[in-house]
Amino acid sequence: MIDFNVPPFIGKELDYVKQVCENHKICGDGPFTKKCNAWFENRFNAKKVLLTTSGTSALEMAALLCNLNEGDEVILPSFTFSSTANAFVLAGAKLVFCDVRPDTMNIDETKIEAAITPKTKVICVVHYAGIACEMDTIMAIARKHNLLVVEDAAQGVMSSYKGKALGTIGDFGCYSFHETKNYSMGEGGALVINDEKYIEKAEILREKGTDRSKFLRGQVDKYTWKDYGSSYLPSELNAAYLYAQLEAADEINNSRLAAWNAYYKLLADLKDKGYIDIPVVPDGCSHNAHMFYIKVKNIAERTKIQSYLRSNEVYTAFHYIPLHSAPAGLKFGRFDGVDEYTTKESERLFRLPMYYGLTPADCEVVSHYIHKYFLG
Ligand SMILES: *Cc1c(COP(=O)(O)O)cnc(C)c1O
Repeated sequence: MIDFNVPPFIGKELDYVKQVCENHKICGDGPFTKKCNAWFENRFNAKKVLLTTSGTSALEMAALLCNLNEGDEVILPSFTFSSTANAFVLAGAKLVFCDVRPDTMNIDETKIEAAITPKTKVICVVHYAGIACEMDTIMAIARKHNLLVVEDAAQGVMSSYKGKALGTIGDFGCYSFHETKNYSMGEGGALVINDEKYIEKAEILREKGTDRSKFLRGQVDKYTWKDYGSSYLPSELNAAYLYAQLEAADEINNSRLAAWNAYYKLLADLKDKGYIDIPVVPDGCSHNAHMFYIKVKNIAERTKIQSYLRSNEVYTAFHYIPLHSAPAGLKFGRFDGVDEYTTKESERLFRLPMYYGLTPADCEVVSHYIHKYFLG
């Protein structure tokens, strides 16, 4: 039996969580939270990183920091998780969905400019499968039209674009440490702030509208309610769990890449014969093996092959139903231009088992059944 996902676990998580319990200090922003923030800042060369309770809450913080007004527009892909869109809806914006590129399933940078109106304030990109969007082009468009850029890098921790860590290129980056992601604390995330002018506001937003972060650093002698805010900081228990995995980040990354590369090699012949498509990694992108997907002819064939694999105890998953055709997508947004690829390509795609600990031998089993399905 080969599971679709097994949450990452190193073993050291237990020691670190025990330390937190023994210190009797389990609320947020303790030593492990600080260690996690610093780990990202150093490793990714990021200005400021703040651990949050989820990738969703990191996106919500980013959306609130964009300071949107009712009716402002945000350009984003329709092929993404609901949280990417929800964050901006909650901040009062209107969604303008842009088509994706069929090779990476990322927002098509050549279709962004046509979607810009006088109300556009933000471009929110999603680095699908941990493979970067065409950021040079996107940043140039944003600067030309005076727009902010939010990177949904939920899947992109440890990936880079032209040497820069995903999440550190736009104005804000958002990571997820949900149990389905490469590094996990159960539920959790982080906000990357790449422009210093937003740091103080972000800290206040995250700490219930107070300047408690400054107080904890000894910069003020009492803390007070300064602005609107909420609670976006995770417990130390979760941060300790994550930190154990950050210390092993290279080991986790290399193990995932070995599985990804095994799939890539094993399935190349089916791609060459025209049965399937496999992921494309553009020049300049290094990725974190978050996901290995294949694309088949159409939705009917996808249903058939997934069920065939399931009957052989190989578990796979598809996603996303494009947001613009979902009830909330219809209510809160519109698709700009023609849906050339979003729907068609999303219906062909499904994801193979991929997790820390999946061995190249496991990949051979998966590949064996995929071959058997097509070639008999
Ligand atoms: C996982 C994910 C999120 C949400 O992260 P949570 O930590 O589950 O809230 C947002 N966007 C994308 C693209 C994701 O893959």
